[in-house]
Amino acid sequence: MSEPHPEFLAAPEEHRWTKPLAELGQVLRDRAWKLEGNWVWFVVPHGALVAMRVVPKGAHAFKKQLRIARKGMKEPQGFAFEVRTFIKHLGLEAWGEPHIELTADPDAGTTNGTATLLEPVALGAKVAKCARCGKDVQHDPAFKEDLCNVCALAAGAEEVATRAAAQSQSQLPLDEAT
Ligand SMILES: [Zn+2]
Repeated sequence: MSEPHPEFLAAPEEHRWTKPLAELGQVLRDRAWKLEGNWVWFVVPHGALVAMRVVPKGAHAFKKQLRIARKGMKEPQGFAFEVRTFIKHLGLEAWGEPHIELTADPDAGTTNGTATLLEPVALGAKVAKCARCGKDVQHDPAFKEDLCNVCALAAGAEEVATRAAAQSQSQLPLDEAT
C-alpha cells in the first residue's frame, strides 16, 4: 500500500476514513441527520475530503448535500473523474451532475478543486408509505394510493375477485330469465 496523502495525515484521527469506500455513504447519511445542518466529513487515504450535511433551510431544506474537495492538485484534469468515482461508490448517481469548481493556486503552482451535489427535491418527495403496511415506497402519481409490491399484488387479486363476483351476480337475473 502506498503512503497516505499528507492531507489524510493532517486530519484528526476521527476524521480519517480507513474503511472501504462502499461503507462511507451510509455513515455520511446517518451522521448528517444527527448533526442537524453541520457537515460530517472524512479525509480518505489518497487525500480527498468527502463531506455531507442536511441543508438546514431554503429551497433544499432537509435535502442532503455532498461536498468533495481536494487541495494541491498538479493534474486537476483528473478531478472530475475522481468525483464521479466517489459518487458511484457513495450510491448517489441518482442525484444527477455535480457542480465542479477549480481554483488555481499560482504561488504553489497547483489547483484546488471542490465538487458539490444536492439531493434533488423531487427525489425526496417521491418517498411515501404503503397505504396498507406502512413500508417506505416510491410515490407514483399514476395510482390512487401508494402500495408496496406485496400489497399491490394482493390489492390486484382482490380487485379481480370483486369484479368476478359482481359480474356473476349481475348475470343471475339474466340466467333466471332464460
Ligand atoms: Zn405494503
